[in-house]
Amino acid sequence: MVDVHCHLNFHSFEKDYDEVIKHASKNGVKKIINVGTKIDSSQEAVELAKKYENLHAIVGVHPHHADKLERNWILELEKLTKNPKIVGIGECGMDFYRYKSNDIVDPSLQKEVFIKQIELAYKLKLPLQIHNRHAGKEIIEILTHHKSSLLNTPGMFHCMSGNIELLKGVLELGFYIGFDGNITYKGIAPGEDTFLPDLVKYTPLDRIVTETDSPFLTPEPYRGRRNVPSYVIIVGESIAKIKNASFAEVNKITTENAMNLFKLNAMP
Ligand SMILES: [Zn+2]
Ligand SMILES: [Zn+2]
Repeated sequence: MVDVHCHLNFHSFEKDYDEVIKHASKNGVKKIINVGTKIDSSQEAVELAKKYENLHAIVGVHPHHADKLERNWILELEKLTKNPKIVGIGECGMDFYRYKSNDIVDPSLQKEVFIKQIELAYKLKLPLQIHNRHAGKEIIEILTHHKSSLLNTPGMFHCMSGNIELLKGVLELGFYIGFDGNITYKGIAPGEDTFLPDLVKYTPLDRIVTETDSPFLTPEPYRGRRNVPSYVIIVGESIAKIKNASFAEVNKITTENAMNLFKLNAMP
């Protein structure tokens, strides 16, 4: 399995990231992609990736941080991509969810920061890793409008949510779809209208990539504790169950998908 999206650069892994990474690879997680959400956490993701053969990094600015950027942030970001262990740009996108800790950032700022990253990814021929929360319609509009700045395989939507119509649009644009431990949760998240397993059912296996979003979105039966990359196996098992497939098949195909999308075989 591959965990294509986690945050080992976040505070909760400060003391034991080494153990966590080794434990994941011992349990069959072949590659881990660690993701930045602003310039400093992207920098940390790069530093961590340099230390481990099976660890890679994606650098970018999350829509939450679109209003806290230095003037030259896009140049700083481009500088970070010079490291050979960088495999993508993200997580970037749009987020209209009202968090307790973070109110909705001015949508026009979010949009500007997202578009700059779409253009950078195209220039560098790197796949995008897109974050969407309650903003699927706007994201599709932006991507469609900037279609000439999308690669043939433009990247992936991480932690897919939304309805079947959005999923169709995302697949048509050529993106892969990332699923996390929240596909094991009962019920539908606030503000959503579609049960996540229904999105899993609709997505062809050859377009699915697996992720954990550690330390968040811990799958059942461990919900409530810190999430770790080794739990991507539970995500794989859950996809297998939903799709009536074997775990071996899900493991093989989603690993190939991740290896192809992020060109992990060619990595140093
Ligand atoms: Zn995200
Ligand atoms: Zn994330």
